[in-house]
Amino acid sequence: MIVISNQAGIGKGLYTKQEADYLHLHISRNLSLNGITIAEYYYCPHHPTTGKCICRKPDSLLLEKAIARFNIDASRSFFIGDAERDIEAGHKAGVNAIKIEPNGDLRSVELKMKN
Ligand SMILES: [Zn+2]
Repeated sequence: MIVISNQAGIGKGLYTKQEADYLHLHISRNLSLNGITIAEYYYCPHHPTTGKCICRKPDSLLLEKAIARFNIDASRSFFIGDAERDIEAGHKAGVNAIKIEPNGDLRSVELKMKN
């Protein structure tokens, strides 16, 4: 399991990379209590107002990085997101994309992955 997010708040100066990394550590610690491991967190720290980058979703660079680094079979993988840009990024990278509602129930995703 890999997490890929846009963290434009860093580019806007709302929080730092260190704080984002700390949040990821916090998430990993909590998930590990349930036996869940996040292999890696990738994020775009840029904000669109500070210039164009190629890592911000809906661009797929971060997905492609993960696919290459972990030797992932994209066609057999799923990218779950709550925004249209997530779905677009998934499709660009050749991954099956599943859209959920913000803060949606992930149990509904399991059914889609089986079909
Ligand atoms: Zn970026």
